[in-house]
Amino acid sequence: MKAIGVEPGEGRPRILEVPRPTPGAGEVLVRTHRVGVDGTDHEVIAGNHGSPPPGEEHLILGHEAVGVVEDPNGSGFSRGEFVVPTVRRPPPGGENEYFERGEADMAPPEATLERGIDGAHGFMSEYFTSPAECLLSVPPETAPWGFLVEPISISEKALELAAASRSSFGWDPETALVLGNGSLGLVTVAMLVERFEVYCLGRSDRPDPTIDVLERLGATYVDSRETPVPEVPSAHEPADLVYEATGYAKHAFESIDALAPNGVAALLGVPEPWSFEIDGGRLHKALVMENKAIVGSVNSGPAHFRAAIERLGGFPEWFPEAFVTTVAPFDSFEAAFERTDGTIKTAVAFDEP
Ligand code: NDP
Ligand code: ZN
Repeated sequence: MKAIGVEPGEGRPRILEVPRPTPGAGEVLVRTHRVGVDGTDHEVIAGNHGSPPPGEEHLILGHEAVGVVEDPNGSGFSRGEFVVPTVRRPPPGGENEYFERGEADMAPPEATLERGIDGAHGFMSEYFTSPAECLLSVPPETAPWGFLVEPISISEKALELAAASRSSFGWDPETALVLGNGSLGLVTVAMLVERFEVYCLGRSDRPDPTIDVLERLGATYVDSRETPVPEVPSAHEPADLVYEATGYAKHAFESIDALAPNGVAALLGVPEPWSFEIDGGRLHKALVMENKAIVGSVNSGPAHFRAAIERLGGFPEWFPEAFVTTVAPFDSFEAAFERTDGTIKTAVAFDEP
C-alpha cells in the first residue's frame, strides 16, 4: 500500500510503498479517510522534532486521522463505522503506570511514543491498524471533518486543566484571550465563543482568511504589532483565561499581565530555547498577589477525544468549510504541506467513502 513519510534529513515528505498492516490480537484494521496536517508535522519534516521507529529509516507521518473500520477483528466496532485514533502508544517494553491508568497524555516524553511524530508510524497510509481501545467512533455526519477531533481534543484538555486550577472557588470567567491565529488558536476561538467574549492575537495584515474566520465567529482580532500582550487589558479588557498557541516564548510570561485577578493562562506552544530578560520579581508577585495560575498542557486523553467529537458536531456548519482550506487528494498530497497566505488547515484525503 501507499504511505506518506519522511526520512530524517530529507526535509520533505514523499510517497512510500509499504506492506499493508495485518491486525494483531485486539487490533482493528482501518481504511484511512482523511489525515490532517499541523505545525507539529512541519517540525517533524524539518527534523526539529520526533524520529522514526527504532531501526527504521523513515517515519510514516500523520497523527490527526479519521478512517473507516475495514476489519473489526472481533472488537466491538462494526465494519464501515467511522473512527478516530488517539496518538500515544506505550514505548518498547510495554505499558507503564500512565498507560495502565488510561492517562497516557500525562506521561513524560520518555514514557510514551507518539504515532506519526515520535518513534511510531502515523496514519498517513491507505490502511492502518490500532488497538481497539485507542479508537473512538465518530458519527457519519461529522466524519469528513473527523481529522479535526485530535486538535480539538488538545484544547479540550488544556481548558479542562485550566478550569481545574480554578475549581476551588466561584470562578465565573467571561473574557478569553487566544494568543495565535494558527490552526490551533483558531479552532480554540471556535470552541470558546459559545461562552466567552473572545480576543484573538495575531500578527497578520488584512485581508487574511484567519481574521475573516475569527471575526465571523464573533471574536475580536488583536494585532500584536500594535497591541502587545501586556497592553491587551488597557486596550480592551483583562482576560479571565489566556490560551497561548503561538509558541512565542515571551507570551508565557506576558500572559500574567494580560490576566484579570484570579485568571489562568494555559500554555500550549512548543518554543525553541530562547534567552531573554523579564522582571521575574514583578511577575512572581503578580501571580501570588492576584491568585493567578499558569498551566502547561500537551496531548490529550480519550475523554478529551469524546468531548472533541461532541464539540465538532456543535460547530456552525460553515466553520469547518472555512477553516479547512485544503483537502489534497493523495496523488497530489504536496498541496497539504504547502503554507501560503490563504492556508489555515490542510488535510490529505486517501479514500472518499
Ligand atoms: P502555527 O505555527 O500554525 O500557529 C502559530 C500562530 O501564532 C501563527 O499564526 C503565528 O503567526 C502566530 N504568532 C507567533 N508569534 C506571534 C506573535 N509574537 N504575535 C502574534 N502572533 C504570533 O501553529 P499551530 O496553530 O499548529 O500550533 C500552535 C502552537 O501549539 C505551536 O507552537 C505548536 O507546536 C503547539 N502545539 C502544541 C500542542 C500541545 O499538545 N501542547 C499540540 C499542537 C500544537 P504568523 O504565522 O503570522 O507568524
Ligand atoms: Zn495535531
